[in-house]
Amino acid sequence: MEPGFHSERAQLPRNMIENSMFEEEPDVVDLAKEPRLHPLEPDEVEYEPRSSRLLVRGLGEHDLEDDEEDYESSARLLGMSFMNRSSSHRNNMAGVYNQEPSGGFCSLSSARTVLVGAFVVVIILSIAMVVYFLPKCTFTKEGCHKKNTTLTLVYPLATNGQVFPWPKVRLPTAVVPVHYDLTLHPNLTTMSFTGIVKISLLVKEDTNNITLHSFDLKITKATITSSKGSSQQKDVQILEYRPHHQIAIKLDSMLLNGETHILNLEYSANLSDGFSGFYKSSYQDKNKTRILAATQFEPTSARNAFPCFDEPAFKATFSIKIIREADHISLSNTQKDATTPFADGLFQDTFAKSVKMSTYLVAFIVADLKNVSQATASGTLVSVYAVPDKMDQMRYALESAVKLLKFYEDFFNISYPLKKLDLVAVPDFEAGAMENWGLITFREAILLYEEETASILDKQTISIVIAHELAHQWFGNLVTMEWWNDLWLNEGFATFMEYFSLEKVFPKLKVADRFLTTRFKVMEKDSMNSSHPLSTSVENVEEIEEMFDSISYQKGAAILLMLQGFLGETVFQKGIERYLNEHKYGNTKTEDLWNSIIDVKNVDLNVKEMMNTWTLQAGFPMVTVKLDTTASKIHLCQERFLRMSVSQEPSSSPDSSYLWHIPLTYITSSCSDYTQSKCIKTWFLKNKTDIIYLKEPNVTWVKFNLHMNGYYIVHYEESTFKKLLGLLKNNHLVFSDHDRAAFINNAFILASAGKITVKQALSMTKYMKNENNTAPISETLIQLRHIYRLVQKRGMLQLAGRVKKYIIDIFGDLINNQTWSNNGSLSERQLRSILLDVACDYNYGDCVQKAQGLFTKWEMTKKMSDLPSDLSTTIYSVGAREVKGWESVLNVYNSLKLETEKSKMLRAMTKSSNAKQLIWLMYQSLHHSIIRTQELPFILATASRTLAGYLPAWDFVKENWDDLVEKFHLGSFPIQAIIIKTTSQFSTKSHESEVQTFFDSLMDKGLQLRAVQEALEIIRLNIQWMDKNLKNLEVWL
Ligand SMILES: [Zn+2]
Repeated sequence: MEPGFHSERAQLPRNMIENSMFEEEPDVVDLAKEPRLHPLEPDEVEYEPRSSRLLVRGLGEHDLEDDEEDYESSARLLGMSFMNRSSSHRNNMAGVYNQEPSGGFCSLSSARTVLVGAFVVVIILSIAMVVYFLPKCTFTKEGCHKKNTTLTLVYPLATNGQVFPWPKVRLPTAVVPVHYDLTLHPNLTTMSFTGIVKISLLVKEDTNNITLHSFDLKITKATITSSKGSSQQKDVQILEYRPHHQIAIKLDSMLLNGETHILNLEYSANLSDGFSGFYKSSYQDKNKTRILAATQFEPTSARNAFPCFDEPAFKATFSIKIIREADHISLSNTQKDATTPFADGLFQDTFAKSVKMSTYLVAFIVADLKNVSQATASGTLVSVYAVPDKMDQMRYALESAVKLLKFYEDFFNISYPLKKLDLVAVPDFEAGAMENWGLITFREAILLYEEETASILDKQTISIVIAHELAHQWFGNLVTMEWWNDLWLNEGFATFMEYFSLEKVFPKLKVADRFLTTRFKVMEKDSMNSSHPLSTSVENVEEIEEMFDSISYQKGAAILLMLQGFLGETVFQKGIERYLNEHKYGNTKTEDLWNSIIDVKNVDLNVKEMMNTWTLQAGFPMVTVKLDTTASKIHLCQERFLRMSVSQEPSSSPDSSYLWHIPLTYITSSCSDYTQSKCIKTWFLKNKTDIIYLKEPNVTWVKFNLHMNGYYIVHYEESTFKKLLGLLKNNHLVFSDHDRAAFINNAFILASAGKITVKQALSMTKYMKNENNTAPISETLIQLRHIYRLVQKRGMLQLAGRVKKYIIDIFGDLINNQTWSNNGSLSERQLRSILLDVACDYNYGDCVQKAQGLFTKWEMTKKMSDLPSDLSTTIYSVGAREVKGWESVLNVYNSLKLETEKSKMLRAMTKSSNAKQLIWLMYQSLHHSIIRTQELPFILATASRTLAGYLPAWDFVKENWDDLVEKFHLGSFPIQAIIIKTTSQFSTKSHESEVQTFFDSLMDKGLQLRAVQEALEIIRLNIQWMDKNLKNLEVWL
């Protein structure tokens, strides 16, 4: 799935497709959208262990051993954080590695830290002793008594008061589904549907009950047909336990291993008001409101549409029939085999039997849609569907999908297994897109494209999302993670492939810059205490929802990029091909991927050990580099990089047990042309410290992590830092554009953690007057504008003005050279879009005047094609500064059919400095009036960046929290984004305490969310940044 997207984000470099939808930055930021490094605004969603959640690093299973459950309850009793547990777990893991004593210059613990650490260890040991003994006691008035039984499972009561036969959140595996025969009849007048499902079951262990998922379905009839003896249907009673979304059938006699049975259920339900399950959506067609019904099941909403075993490992085949009216069509995962007319004027479409698949990939749509189609060379019919008046916007998506499908068939060396592939633009859609097998659904703004008005970044975004969803047809659909703890296997891989495939198929789209930006962004999030390992234990629905964050997507992709560089493209591809073949139509855990890669001939057997250090530990390493020029050697040291200093965050004490196996790359001054492979050196850092002895003499500088392809940052000791700074000033082209961007990025992130001074970080930007490449420029703007916004929101307008002046000083010449056109390469167009947006935002030069002139002309003609499409957001933004202009944009927005253009207009309206307008937009969107509710997270995020909107946005969240959770549900990506974005501009203790108090008041629906923990940590990081750097900033500027 692509969590959320907003077409604007197209422009966002951070490409995280996911979040982009929630980004607000102006085109400028298009590329680079957010400040990433600072404490300021991390954007993804990560979180800290919540007290209700047991975090066990490296534990793939969710069912705890009895001892562990005891431990958990005892620890809770003592108010003990489970974090302690997880760190002891990690310590054990790290102990496996060959650890050397820290010998050098890595930041060493101070004596004070050591003392504090020792004290903490004593406390933890004491608590552990108590905990160890506690479970064995029952406290009564008389004291502690030994328990006489081990833990017994407590069975809950069903809604009718009877005992429900299954106590756990995860389903039992005694009975498994083999095939579903599903008939659905949605009624788009009454907004309800009826269904009949016949589930063929195989008994794997003797049992007297069948337990499966069902939620908000009214089951009207239930029978079971046994394979034993007579095949008569027998009525059975259904029990329901709503907290676990489960129903169960208790049987009089045992079902025996090897038997097969058919469970027949008839039911009815309402179409959902939200964006998940089987939901309704509406759109305007020639001034008439039309209704459609569509599905979004990932991760846990198939159970809202039909009773099923709704976990990814319960794969089965599906035969689906849909009853519809004459003026609709229906679509499902497979091709339609037959249409049967009924006497009452309805029709029943029968779809071909599916391949074996997980429930979350099932999909169906009933709507009045039109399509364009094209067959691939291998015979798959690819179609793009949209509402009828958007037919002229479907051609680009179709061409891209056909090309990318062929690329993947060749790359994976496995044919796409279905006869058809549909890509459908759905008018209401919460995520960005969803990879349902054979029936991929998208937001309209990221599938529909019109050459004349869409910007170059719209085109890039559409291609990226299609590439992502098509990669899932193999990685995710054909081979699926066994459980949601390994979601990154699906999402990290699809994210990696979106860049890899586009570099090969559409090299002109230059997606590498966007990938770089997303890596910076996720590292910002992953350098907080609230981050989590890629593979993280999850169980309930909210925890599963929270796995859809940038760690799973972007960190997953980043470590695959690093692995590909380490193995080489050929070995990597062979490993993937082997993995898919070995597990097709099955389920896997993370280690299965490493095992398949290891099996490829000649692969270093340490791949699994190496990759475990990246998937089982949160965070990433900072590698400290010290060049000894006289002895020709390089000292290396690694430690976990955390932005929060120990004094600010007691829980962030440096944990020396973190250790990664890092495939380092570097060049030296004696062979610095890294377009030549002979100059590129590698070193495998497995220990805490290490030394590289250089063969060549007189090396004066070294540069590590070439192109920022490794998931680590580099901290150069001062003399090397100065050398590199000098090179940037005198001849920056010694380094690649991505390396220059990485210098900027790493410097600011190190400064935010206090590893270098903000003055040193700012000194990195001084060479910018000579820079004209998009990646380093956009990274610099992200960092500086982030500082600008923070300072501005603290009311230090004079200082904010000086930051603005500095930005104009270094980029003024470049801005003056820009033209108001769409000419040039993608990179040049991106750069123009970024720079002119900054210029107009800061009222520099004649930017506002030119934009206003173009806006006035557009107001008269309303012809989008009159505007340079890459600059239209900037132009609308300037025009919308006046009430009359803002209303003009709104009027056109209201009637426009071009989704990509509407996104630009919405962004422009949301940049308003008029708080009343912003609040109006928020409520319009909440009530799905002129603005669709799907846009609300984006509106809140964008408004939060502005001086006028950041306080109203937070107030809106507090006032409408219940409605927000009802629309988007707790833990989901939109909710994560709303929490983090609307609080990320706060930098005072009073705001911190206000946010804490609000989420505290929500009891178990607030503070336990990882996003809340992350939001609070961001505010503390902002406070820390202000405390440390404000004075220095004033002096430097
Ligand atoms: Zn995905």
